[in-house]
Amino acid sequence: MGPIAERLQSIRTRIAGAARRHGRDPDEIRLVAVSKTKPVEAIREAYAAGQRDFGENYVQELVDKAHQCADLSEIRWHMVGHLQRNKVRHVAPHVSMIHSADSVRLVREVAARFRAVESPLRAAADPRLPVLVEVNVGGEAQKGGCHPEEIGAILDEVDAHHNLRLAGLMTVPPHTEDPEGAVPFFRQLAELRREHGGEERLPELSMGMTHDLDQAIATGATLVRIGTAVFGARARSAP
Ligand SMILES: *Cc1c(COP(=O)(O)O)cnc(C)c1O
Repeated sequence: MGPIAERLQSIRTRIAGAARRHGRDPDEIRLVAVSKTKPVEAIREAYAAGQRDFGENYVQELVDKAHQCADLSEIRWHMVGHLQRNKVRHVAPHVSMIHSADSVRLVREVAARFRAVESPLRAAADPRLPVLVEVNVGGEAQKGGCHPEEIGAILDEVDAHHNLRLAGLMTVPPHTEDPEGAVPFFRQLAELRREHGGEERLPELSMGMTHDLDQAIATGATLVRIGTAVFGARARSAP
């Protein structure tokens, strides 16, 4: 077994353990392997070990890798980084889920550019593109994500487009040395979900990275975005 396959196995074990400790079904937590800055060979190794969901932060990198991995027929690309409106048309043909919708105008652009027929994989099940609304729960000036007061309007905009499916909420909390520091922010995201229709309307909570994976699972994450623990440390730091 290669190093990435080994790390994937240990993360899956870690996810299952955290889920059980918190009375949750491990099957309701999906691992998104964040492959930003990592070579295609690393993605191929993870895919060979059974990983199907991959996250990228930058549009050009996602598009390039999607082309290079076109033979991996079951791969699903998740856009987890800040998305500019003028780049939406480039990712639209490749992406399986957008985690970072943070404005009404961005959602409109995604709906205008996304054609359901472009992905045979998606067309087989639900042809709509799942969209998560990113919330800047920490209120950090330099971070993506909408202000909690803007959520309602953005959710309604996603609902208004027949080719989009409202999937849930996402956040990247402010960094704290102690991963327990993320807990209040994760709880806030879960509370915002309750205020805006609950699990029925917003089934997914995308939160938790290598550092705070266990805390995210404890507070209800259904999508965890893990880079370092799968692929090793990155040469350049995350934005
Ligand atoms: C880089 C990144 C991740 C993964 O972070 P790790 O700490 O390497 O697990 C998750 N989500 C987003 C939005 C990121 O930018």
